[in-house]
Formats: sequence, structure tokens, C-alpha cells
Amino acid sequence: MNLPVYFDHASTTPLKPEVLEAMMPYLTENYGNASSRHHAYGWLAEQAVEAAKAAIKASFQAKSSQLIFTSGATEAINTVILGFVKKHPDGHIISLKTEHKATLACLDYLEGKSIRVTHLEVDKNGSFEIQDLAIALSMVKCPVLFTVLWANNETGIMHPISEIAKLKAKHSFEIHVDASQAVGKIPIFFDNLNIDYLTYSSHKIYGPKGIGAILSKTRVEKMVFGGGQQSEQRAGTLNTPAIVGMAAATQLAFDHMEAFVIHTKTLQTTLEDGLSSHGDIFYIHGNTSSRVSNISSIAIKNTDSEAIIQQIAHKFAITNGSACNAASTLPSHVLKAMGFSDTEAYSTIRLSFGWSNTSQQIDDFIKAIRTIVF
Ligand code: PLP
Repeated sequence: MNLPVYFDHASTTPLKPEVLEAMMPYLTENYGNASSRHHAYGWLAEQAVEAAKAAIKASFQAKSSQLIFTSGATEAINTVILGFVKKHPDGHIISLKTEHKATLACLDYLEGKSIRVTHLEVDKNGSFEIQDLAIALSMVKCPVLFTVLWANNETGIMHPISEIAKLKAKHSFEIHVDASQAVGKIPIFFDNLNIDYLTYSSHKIYGPKGIGAILSKTRVEKMVFGGGQQSEQRAGTLNTPAIVGMAAATQLAFDHMEAFVIHTKTLQTTLEDGLSSHGDIFYIHGNTSSRVSNISSIAIKNTDSEAIIQQIAHKFAITNGSACNAASTLPSHVLKAMGFSDTEAYSTIRLSFGWSNTSQQIDDFIKAIRTIVF
């Protein structure tokens, strides 16, 4: 089967060969349980897990932090949010309307349980006013968690995490950052950030699926019960090969970040300039905002993105939003929150680039779109 060009790296990425190579021994000969204390199989696995933790902490410059492995970013985000509520049943959570469903669905569940949640508005550029957060913080007298994604998975629009953290000088609150789409795209140094929790996922950075992590200033509230693994913070046998893979992928993402950004920025600019030169039929979401280099979200006037995606599916693998919402026929909640109409949201496609993409592929894509649209 001739597979189409893959422009969906924000949904997931392939495993890098170096990552697979690092994982292989722990899928085959070194298959011990990292919690088995009585024999060399367990010791080898435990050593690998400890080395992986050290490597991840070194990448994020997170020496003085806790690091907990989960089944992915969704579980990591849920653990932080639900853990906050477990610690502070009278607490209040502030977030944005444009968060990933892993956050929004968890907050919906909590609102159903009468936990207080405030969703801040964003503008047409996907940004929110820090002043709105400051006002919300000053109005709340109980413990507060502000949970926000660093880079939006649909538009690539980023939020100013350092600026947000400066509010801690005046207000007492905890900050959780979902960095799933930011790791490997911008420098992230946890200990300097003055945030409390950072979560991310391995499969967005050329690591294996089914593994994510929480970096945190303090211990994480246990949400998965069973054995005493991970210092009683998350039960369940450690997935040693995936942990080793996540560490290798993280190191590679940090080490090659500059080259990745240069490569994907070229593709993003080629695509966006190429389409924009055909007039205002194409609109780039967040084009005046600070954005990651590997995501382009483009509205094509008077079109139905679903029809376009189907028409080019044999040649290009693109989407109209998050893979997590693929089953939904509703317009993107992100674009709606940014003030776009249903029609504008339904006319939007998302391309997300990776190492394998080339400028030639972008040129071919522009030609294909022109043929359909004009
Ligand atoms: N947060 C963001 C911003 C994402 O893009 C994703 C993945 O789509 C997630 C969370 C969920 O990650 P995972 O697939 O590891 O559960």
C-alpha cells in the first residue's frame, strides 16, 4: 500500500530508530520487573528506570523535582487536576476554553461534582489576558490551580508561561502546564520556571505510545491504586521499555531542538506564504501570535475541510483538528473559543510537520489544494 505523505505529527510521531534501539534490550533479554528486588533481572530493569529518570531530569534541568511515569499525557493531566482536588476539596481551578480535551473533560467531570472551575476567554489570536487571570486569582480566596497548555495542539499558539508564573509574586496558586506540544519545540527548564507541575507525552516526540510523565515540585497525589511503585505515587508495574524509550526520545528532542525548529519553520513558512500568495481565501489561525514551528492551522474560505481532507487523503495525511476529537462532528471548540463561526471552524485544516517532511512535499500539497479550491 502506498501511504500518503504524513502531515499529522501533532497527533503522533513514528519511533526514532535510536529510540527503538535503546528500548530493544528491555523488550527482549532484560525483561525483568523493575520492582523485583531479589534478582538481577529486576535490578537491571530498575537501573534502566533510574537512568531514564536521571536523563529526563537532566534534559529539563529539573534536578530538584519529582518525576512520575503515567500511561500518557491524558493520565498525567488527570492525575495533576484530580490530585489537586483530592488535596483541596474546597479548591478552585482556573483554565482556558482552548485546552486539550484531556483537561476540559476532566474539568467537566469535576464541575459535575460541584468543584468550582473558571474558564478564561481567549481572543481571535488564541491569547488570553494575564490581567484576566490576575483578576480571577484575586477574587478567589481558596487554594487555586491554574492549568494551561503551553502550545495548543490545533493551532500551535503558545502561552507565556514565564509571565503567568510572575503572578506568583502577588498571588498564591499552583500552576500546571501541559507541555505535550511544546517539548522539543521550545527550551523548557523546569527548575527555573516557577511552576508546580509539567506534563508531557512520549509519542509526540518520536518516542513510544502509552507513556507520559509528570514533573512536579512536590509529591503527586496517588490516583492509580495497587502496589507501592513510584514511591507510592502511581501503582502498576513500570513499563521499562517505554520509560527507556521516553528518556531517549526526550534527550533527542532537547539535543536536536534547534535543528528541528529550523527545519519545521522552513516548512511552515513555505506552506503559509505559498497559500497566502493566492489571496485572502486562506486564513492562517494565530498568524500574529507566538506559535510553535511545526503546526499550521488554515481556514479555506467557503469550503468544507472534511471534503478537502477526503479528496486528498490518498496523497496527504492531514486532519481538521485534534485526533482526540476525530470522532466528533462538532466544530472545533478551540476555534469557536477564539471567536470563529461554525462555518469558519468547519473550513479549517491542520498540518503538522516532522523530520521526514520536505519542501517538495509542501509544494505538492499547495498544488493539490489549488487544484481543488480554484
Ligand atoms: N495534551 C495535548 C496538548 C495533546 O496534544 C495531547 C495529545 O493529543 C494530549 C494532551 C494527550 O496525550 P496522550 O495521547 O499522551 O494521552
